[in-house]
Amino acid sequence: MHVALVLTHDCNLACTYCYTGEKFRSDMSDSVAAAAVDLAFASAGDVDIGFFGGEPLIAWPRLVSIAEHARARAAREGRRLRLSVTTNATLLTRQRVRRLTEIDVEVHVSLDGDRAAHDATRPARGHRSSFERVLGGIEALRSYDQPLDLIAVVAPANVRRLAASVGFLIEQGARSITLNPAYECPWTEDDLAAWETGLEAVAQMYAGAMRLNMPIAMPTFDNKLFAAAKGGLCAGDGCDAGDGEIAVAPSGRLYPCARLVGEDRDPSLAVGDVQHGVDLDCVRAIRSGAADPACEPCAERWRCTSACMCANLAETGSPTLPGGVQCWHEQTTARIADRVGAELLAERCQTFLEWVYGPDARGIDPSRVDTARSFDAVADTGVRSVARRRHLPIVKVTA
Ligand code: SF4
Ligand code: SF4
Repeated sequence: MHVALVLTHDCNLACTYCYTGEKFRSDMSDSVAAAAVDLAFASAGDVDIGFFGGEPLIAWPRLVSIAEHARARAAREGRRLRLSVTTNATLLTRQRVRRLTEIDVEVHVSLDGDRAAHDATRPARGHRSSFERVLGGIEALRSYDQPLDLIAVVAPANVRRLAASVGFLIEQGARSITLNPAYECPWTEDDLAAWETGLEAVAQMYAGAMRLNMPIAMPTFDNKLFAAAKGGLCAGDGCDAGDGEIAVAPSGRLYPCARLVGEDRDPSLAVGDVQHGVDLDCVRAIRSGAADPACEPCAERWRCTSACMCANLAETGSPTLPGGVQCWHEQTTARIADRVGAELLAERCQTFLEWVYGPDARGIDPSRVDTARSFDAVADTGVRSVARRRHLPIVKVTA
């Protein structure tokens, strides 16, 4: 169980697509934090705690004290513990990076791309640019050799800079680049065409890094390729909200995932509280909404991640109903990923084989891979690439 602690509703940025709603100071109390850690340790297996916000570094003392407490407890109980923080990096100093390194907290940084792309969507409050401050935080991470895991939100306002932006993130030394679509924005057909052009260019960067034996994780393509290699999505690839993941609001109320906390004012999305635990009936009620019958015959269904509650809510207002932009994205990224994967297979790229099939691929003789049959030649899964099939109508969510 991944337990996401939303430490505060406050934030120093004013991102145009922000899903967390109104910003206000209401930090997590000691008692809620202690109960949230208990919840994380109550689940079997490894303990996994993430810090979110608002901007979690605004609640820096609380973050450090929770991390220290969890580390000490994990050592006492002989449990493996993963700690991570997702931050806008504007408050990340060298001293803070040093402390995060000491208590072994992974850092994920939101940066929407190059200056023009980032400034279009992630201004500081008061319309000032936050770009230089984010780069300062990244420099602090580099000075402690922290790997750079970057998250860029793709929105209509920055989509035309997608290729330039990903190029910039690679120049920064990114180990992984997560491209999160802003499904809450209204997208036009022109925007989607620009997005597709950008994704094609990004796929070539992904392949180029493979060819140089310096792979960069890009879930946009990786998820499709890994699913192809395995014959479908595995546990953890789809939506874990309310099941493998739970989020704790500063008030102590529980939500299926961090994105659904919002302003913590929608009781229909709450699934219990930190003192009494997860109410599984509430989780089931949220998950039991109508699905789109049009998905039933879709050839991409087996690796479509449109079960994602927060993406669905953002676009259609229903946690179980995928929207047209998400459908378009699923099919477009599958098609591009398949093509770039087939190219790398045709070249018998050893780095790519190991990336997709794991260390066992070291035993595969690349010269014997039947590239004409794509991935199933190696994995023998019977899976085939599918063409883009349909395009649901675009739903525009009104405020
Ligand atoms: S940094 Fe995060 S919480 Fe702050 S405005 Fe941007 S998206 Fe919202
Ligand atoms: S790609 Fe579109 S139609 Fe196919 S399963 Fe996903 S959301 Fe449904």
